[in-house]
Amino acid sequence: MTSDLQNLIELQGIDTHIAALRAEIASLPRHVAEIEAKLAGSKARLEAAVAAGKADEAARRKHESEIREQQQKISKYRDQSLIVKTNDEYRALMHEIQFAEQKIAASEDQILEFMVAADVRKEVLRKAEAELKADSAENDREKEEARRRTAADEKEMAELSAKRNQVRGALSEDVLRHYDRVLKLRGTALAAVYENQMCSACSVVLRPQVYQEVMTNQGFLTCDTCKRILYYVPPPPRPEDDKAAKAPVGPGAASPGDGAVQP
Ligand SMILES: [Zn+2]
Repeated sequence: MTSDLQNLIELQGIDTHIAALRAEIASLPRHVAEIEAKLAGSKARLEAAVAAGKADEAARRKHESEIREQQQKISKYRDQSLIVKTNDEYRALMHEIQFAEQKIAASEDQILEFMVAADVRKEVLRKAEAELKADSAENDREKEEARRRTAADEKEMAELSAKRNQVRGALSEDVLRHYDRVLKLRGTALAAVYENQMCSACSVVLRPQVYQEVMTNQGFLTCDTCKRILYYVPPPPRPEDDKAAKAPVGPGAASPGDGAVQP
């Protein structure tokens, strides 16, 4: 294989790697934004749980003051009942007392409900606090990981860029111009050719003469259709060839089956 082809294959490897690193570096701020949004969600849930607890507490206090108010009324009606002159007035007061007692009973029922609900609220609050704590820790961890990843990617990018300059320096301007143009247009500038005699990038079958030339890996050949620079990749050694090459020799090495294939 010519050094040009070797350098081009290396250059394409570096360019692909750099593109992947760029994509990863670009994706990390999005990832950080996602984990920030998750944290904001658990903060909002905790705040809602606290607010609901406060609203219950305020409503409970309102019922307590209602009870005190009604108790004062009852006490006042009882005092009045001692000095009323008529049965009608007395009955009216008794009726008012009964009415106030009903209100007290209703408020007491409500307070009891709040007391039961408060236990549930406490559990919700405890869970929300635990979630926020866990999410905060995860947020810190993930942000640190994103920072570390970005720094590592940038360091690797710098190393790859230096290597890229070195590889490009070994290639002629004409070759680089073709490489850059096709890379920009197609995303990759090289295509491997295998035994199926096709350009592996655009799947067009090569003319026999082109294929023969590509197989030597000694020239600068491009695909007629996609213009990618072609290089030949010979098939890997077949397993049976491998086995034949490594066939054990010597006493006791051959198994009974092996004898059948021997000439
Ligand atoms: Zn092609």
